[in-house]
Amino acid sequence: MSRFLDGRYAAMKPYVPGEQPQDKKYVKLNTNESPFPPSPAVLAALKGEEEKLNLYSDPTASVLVGAIAAHFDRIVKSKGGKGISEKQVFAGNGSDEVLAFVFQAFCGKGRGVATPSVGYGFYPVFCELLGIRYNPVPVKSDFSVGIRDYEGIKDNIVIANPNAQTGIYLPLSDIETLLSADKDRLVVVDEAYCDFGGESAVTLLDRYENLIVVQTMSKSRQLAGGRVGFALASEEITEDLNKMKYSFNPYNLNRLSIVAGAAAIADEEYFEKTSVAVANERERLKDSLGKLGFSCTPSLANFVLAGHPAIGGRELYLALKEKGVLVRFLSDAALSPYVRITVGSAEQCDALIEAIKQVFKEKGI
Ligand SMILES: *Cc1c(COP(=O)(O)O)cnc(C)c1O
Repeated sequence: MSRFLDGRYAAMKPYVPGEQPQDKKYVKLNTNESPFPPSPAVLAALKGEEEKLNLYSDPTASVLVGAIAAHFDRIVKSKGGKGISEKQVFAGNGSDEVLAFVFQAFCGKGRGVATPSVGYGFYPVFCELLGIRYNPVPVKSDFSVGIRDYEGIKDNIVIANPNAQTGIYLPLSDIETLLSADKDRLVVVDEAYCDFGGESAVTLLDRYENLIVVQTMSKSRQLAGGRVGFALASEEITEDLNKMKYSFNPYNLNRLSIVAGAAAIADEEYFEKTSVAVANERERLKDSLGKLGFSCTPSLANFVLAGHPAIGGRELYLALKEKGVLVRFLSDAALSPYVRITVGSAEQCDALIEAIKQVFKEKGI
């Protein structure tokens, strides 16, 4: 730390992202990326765009916003809703940026952030950075979220659904209970993992102006390195988010991300195919892990949280790393008996199972 850092950041603990090793090739199952390459339509859309990098990107990201609106408009209308307009879409440099704007715009010391005690590790970090009161609500012993525990809480609720780290999904009826209990409280549903078996709360936007749905193209649309996230909310909320953005970084999305994101969301067929493949592989992975004596949370995400009675999370993570397989160890006390394993391709998951068998053999498990 330099002697120049402002005192209010002296004790701040930044978020620690999963390893992105550049040295050797691992079977990489630690940061919930897609095992598939971007859609061919994305690669085609990028062609020629790089020649325009001397020019600023479109600050309204209209091509991307239009494509996102069209996609969700279809979904909402197919379920009998009014639809989604472009004015209800806010795009950001990854959903982390979108979430940061949401936290900054709507939360503070008075109205803090209530969120499950086991969840996405960035929420407490944003709170610390932005001086927001953090209110972790304990999850149950099986890591599930008790909706009743949020009764009477005046803070805004931020909830990943399916939840980060556990993959446990809350049905939309529970989200609706949170929304209707107190219309002055925002409910931010972070749907990073909802495309692998969950249902988006986007259909509730017609009826609840206190709802913000946040999604990312990092997990189900093969664009983790493209950094594209977005929020869907009322026009008024989107306007507030734009106020934050234009006061911070008007060109928050670069040219390549804008065209890549637009092409990714338009290619419904590739999205369906890859999401279903990941969901199927998740169930096969759970089965294989079960046969080796692991127990897994009932995840609907593109990862499983797996624990084994004979070996701790850190020990297993280190042993697998030595064998060239990267999984995520989460040092959080509640999660330390487990490792979080991203659902990879069939070949990657087979390699993981083989590596675990070898580790068990060497350790006499
Ligand atoms: C991965 C993830 C994000 C961040 O996604 P980016 O768009 O890559 O910034 C946000 N929330 C949750 C729960 C995530 O798992």
